[in-house]
Amino acid sequence: MNIFEMAKIPLEEAIGLSKLVPGAAAVIEQPERTLEVSLPVKMDDGTVRVFTGYRSQHSTVLGPAKGGIRYHQNVTMDEIKTLAFWMTCKCAVAGLPYGGAKGGIIVNPAELSEGELERLTRTYVDKIAFIIGERKDIPAPDVNTNAKIMGWMMDEFSKIAGQYEPAFITGKPICLGGSLGRNAATGYGVKVAAAEALKRKNISLAGSTCAVQGFGNVGSWSAKLLYDLGVKIVAVSDSRSAIFCAEGLNPYEVENHKEMNGTVAGFAGSQAIGSEEILELDVTILVPAALELQITKDNAAKIRARVIVEGANGPTTPEADKILDGNGVLVVPDILANGGGVTVSYFEWVQNLNRHFWTEAEVVSKQESMMVNAFRQVYDTSVKFGSDMRVAAYIVALNRLAEAMKYRGMF
Ligand code: NAD
Repeated sequence: MNIFEMAKIPLEEAIGLSKLVPGAAAVIEQPERTLEVSLPVKMDDGTVRVFTGYRSQHSTVLGPAKGGIRYHQNVTMDEIKTLAFWMTCKCAVAGLPYGGAKGGIIVNPAELSEGELERLTRTYVDKIAFIIGERKDIPAPDVNTNAKIMGWMMDEFSKIAGQYEPAFITGKPICLGGSLGRNAATGYGVKVAAAEALKRKNISLAGSTCAVQGFGNVGSWSAKLLYDLGVKIVAVSDSRSAIFCAEGLNPYEVENHKEMNGTVAGFAGSQAIGSEEILELDVTILVPAALELQITKDNAAKIRARVIVEGANGPTTPEADKILDGNGVLVVPDILANGGGVTVSYFEWVQNLNRHFWTEAEVVSKQESMMVNAFRQVYDTSVKFGSDMRVAAYIVALNRLAEAMKYRGMF
């Protein structure tokens, strides 16, 4: 089964439970548009390499499409379509006036020079420019892309448009209209979701333990912000290694170590563990914050965490969900748990459109209240329908989408 088909399994369950009108269900099951582009890039040695890129717009029912751009050697069109579908649902759960999109390029950016990466980025924008824009589709960072790359994209798109276009993209550097709080936003949302989940389980945050798979933007901020609340971070990992320390790691120091050494491996006082072992540790909170399909039917029964907060998109398969649910593990699903990033992206877009900027305290307090509200709605829906939180999140999303479709006269 491909990943897009797999992603639709909990959706089908939600469609069944929420008794959605068939027209709405059919619309949601396919992306509105998926574009494949080829990207010729002049390399530093004078040769030309042609890369492949995608942009998938799953839905514009609730507003312009919104979603990040991923640079990774394993990107596929199916993966991008799936991530776009999740964005539609995530924006609907968060109550944002956006549809969903995702983009990606098949590339290992670590193999490119900075100049090659910039030329690839600009070529990608040139090729997808006709379908993106502040009222059409608003990109953002994802795996292996960052504020610097968003800055190049903003510059290229502004050149094509012949005018300054800050609102066409989010996750920009602050000096180009980025929002305070955006860098930490997804991790901040993971922290809020973890706190809410533990409350429902009557477990106190202080003194609980946590393992984080994937010490990138989402993982490192999740670790730092949970650590600030007194949670003991016992293990973290990256694509090359995993480290453990029963007494707890200081994630700020791990971050400095990673900046200097390119990996978390070898952090003083830690011991190396297997990269799969990190998911199976006896911890209160597990934060998968790397890539899709990490928790499967093969390892779900070995998971000892009380709560899983999905920083990554799609880390858990439907089969694993059933095993975890049966074992009493509360899974806060990606489309709720990592919605903090797109929520603050929305704030960035609003600030850009108004040319008026907010303080970090304003950003954080608005984000917190939106996320607590979204968590409560999903949790209450799961209680009402007797479903897990993933199916409940889809029910919340589907109801918003179906209502908008109805009033747009789509069925
Ligand atoms: P990133 O590139 O900053 O970090 C990814 C990290 O995962 C890196 O440290 C990498 O080494 C590590 N990694 C990769 N494969 C791994 C593996 N098999 N085991 C352990 N670690 C591995 O990316 P990011 O922006 O932090 O995104 C991580 C996840 O969060 C993705 O699923 C992304 O779609 C999702 N997400 C990101 C945001 C955001 O705002 N950046 C928002 C919502 C969801």
